[in-house]
Amino acid sequence: MPSIVEAQNWAKQQLAGGESPKVDAKVILQHLLQCNQTYLLTWPEKTLSNEQWSRYQELIAKRVAGEPVAYIVGEREFWSLSLKVSPATLIPRPDTEVLVEQALKKVLNQADTHIVDLGTGTGAIALALASELPKAKVFASDLREDAVNLAQDNAQKLDLSQVQVKQGSWFEPFAEQQFDLVVSNPPYIDPEDPHLSQGDVRFEPSSALTAEQHGLADIEHIVSHAPSYLKAGGWLLLEHGFDQKEAVQGLLIANGFAEVFTEQDYGGMDRVTGGCIKE
Ligand code: GLN
Repeated sequence: MPSIVEAQNWAKQQLAGGESPKVDAKVILQHLLQCNQTYLLTWPEKTLSNEQWSRYQELIAKRVAGEPVAYIVGEREFWSLSLKVSPATLIPRPDTEVLVEQALKKVLNQADTHIVDLGTGTGAIALALASELPKAKVFASDLREDAVNLAQDNAQKLDLSQVQVKQGSWFEPFAEQQFDLVVSNPPYIDPEDPHLSQGDVRFEPSSALTAEQHGLADIEHIVSHAPSYLKAGGWLLLEHGFDQKEAVQGLLIANGFAEVFTEQDYGGMDRVTGGCIKE
């Protein structure tokens, strides 16, 4: 059987030409051996068992076929929180941390602060906010039962079970509730976008990626319903496509939002737009 270093070298060759052969080979082996990077570096000569080697070959074959590493290993880090992921949900993206950063500027850590994350998926945004605002009441919704279960699992695993995850469409589970902050990373890709046939998104659920009206249908739904769920002075913050700033700002203004602003992601693309409902 190959050693740790031999197995990784083999995997790197298999993955050559991919986006990140070295990191993928390492991360998948760490997952398989349930160890950290230090272990791999400390025991390069240690041989894999027969079973480990055949499992490693299977997992690398999945990656060669394009399956995202996050789905292969079943987890992804977001806001320094390790989240379980599954093909039921979008894989959390680093750019979505910009939405969390902006959200944290808009609310206080108080017992009467109410926040909701619509279409929560893994629970990433809700859990990141709850981890920073332990006194606040954080709610989340998702249409898919498997996503709701996953977000609840993540909340429990991270000891953030104050986050309440409900099944339903957008605001549906929160009739009569009023929030200080509404956040969402809804689907916003045009179903005709050619990028949908490349890379990781091929394996992600289209329900989490695409929306009608060139990607704007769900954003429009959220913006038009948000005013009746926001307290006076409350904020709505949305992630959107790099070319949707004007459209999203226009929707916010048309629905009575003030102080409308857009923030760029780490790649310098317009990514998060928000506004507030005045007193
Ligand atoms: N930003 C993601 C992408 O372009 C899409 C996320 C989403 O649709 N909410 O792959």
